[in-house]
Amino acid sequence: MRKRWTLRGLCASTAASVILMASAVGAEQGSETSDPTSETELVILGGGAGRTSYGGDPTGGFSAAVVVGEDRYIVDFGRGWQERYYEAGLGNERAHTGFSGLEGLKAGFVTHLHSDHIIDLPRLLLFGSTEGLRKRTDPVVIVGPASRGDLPPLASNLEREERLVSPENPTPGIKSTVEQIFAAYASDLNDNIRDSGMPHPDTYIEVREIALPEGTPGPDVSVAPEMAPFEIYRDENISVSAILVDHAPMYPSYALRFETPDGVIVFSGDTNMNPNLVEIARDADILVLEVISTDWANNLFPEPRSSADIAKLHHLLESHTPVEEVGQVAAQANVGRLVLSHLAPATVPDEEWLAGVSGFEGEVLVGRPLLRLGLSEANNP
Ligand SMILES: [Zn+2]
Ligand SMILES: [Zn+2]
Repeated sequence: MRKRWTLRGLCASTAASVILMASAVGAEQGSETSDPTSETELVILGGGAGRTSYGGDPTGGFSAAVVVGEDRYIVDFGRGWQERYYEAGLGNERAHTGFSGLEGLKAGFVTHLHSDHIIDLPRLLLFGSTEGLRKRTDPVVIVGPASRGDLPPLASNLEREERLVSPENPTPGIKSTVEQIFAAYASDLNDNIRDSGMPHPDTYIEVREIALPEGTPGPDVSVAPEMAPFEIYRDENISVSAILVDHAPMYPSYALRFETPDGVIVFSGDTNMNPNLVEIARDADILVLEVISTDWANNLFPEPRSSADIAKLHHLLESHTPVEEVGQVAAQANVGRLVLSHLAPATVPDEEWLAGVSGFEGEVLVGRPLLRLGLSEANNP
């Protein structure tokens, strides 16, 4: 049964006030007092899409935290996640040094290996030791995609093939990605290991690659073949399941479903509207769903368009979820609340995003940083 959710610290949950809260960015939301009836909470840490800073827009890159009691879980490590983590009060303050800590971070999940989802993963890998991870008795678990295996096909409308990066290892999975980040920063890490006795970072970071169920067809057949969600992580608080979604040609690209005793939160990852997305989101309390403005995408590439322009426009519109379709996804999946995220672009005002959604009766929020939604057993119907 779906659990009803609550907004922390919000008295009148009218649509207007919800929208107002979702729009505001600042420390005020982060300092809301906790709803004692809710153990599980969603906290948006960043909500922008893609390889751009949108001219300094404060929305940052996509990242979210699921909080269960004292434990924290991160979904994707977009630009600025760590500042917002502290701003939201998710770190343990250490007043004598002024530092905040990542001690409460139990696991992180990477939906896919586009750089806007892992650009600030190195912050965790490199600064984690001095920001509290050494205080943990068990390592932080990073769960993410394995290698694609083969390069994606060359887009049919590209006239020529550009040189590849790292042709000997052109599609590293999350394990190789992390190892190569450590290698790139070896001068710093080894300096600290030899000078300060810092442990090798693999003592506090454990990386696990997601193994697809046996018999799953490869991306040459389909990047999102019909399948059931499968479990990728479990501990005393939560279970997390994954499903392949269609973010072609990126593969694998996952949507993630978090189940806690308080309810269900689903993250779409980057995807178009497809049956697997609806399947994993079924009856969730909250669906955090990526969204793209069709008008913005078309206007990005004025005529005449080069072949590279056409290829990029094709990717934007075919591999993401247009705002005109997000309501259908939420309605088909029968979710409680819809949080628009991975905003493409982050500079579109909230009123415009909300005006573009149709076909869903439930409440819709725009996932700007420090939006907080609690799941509460006490509010079950
Ligand atoms: Zn993305
Ligand atoms: Zn992506």
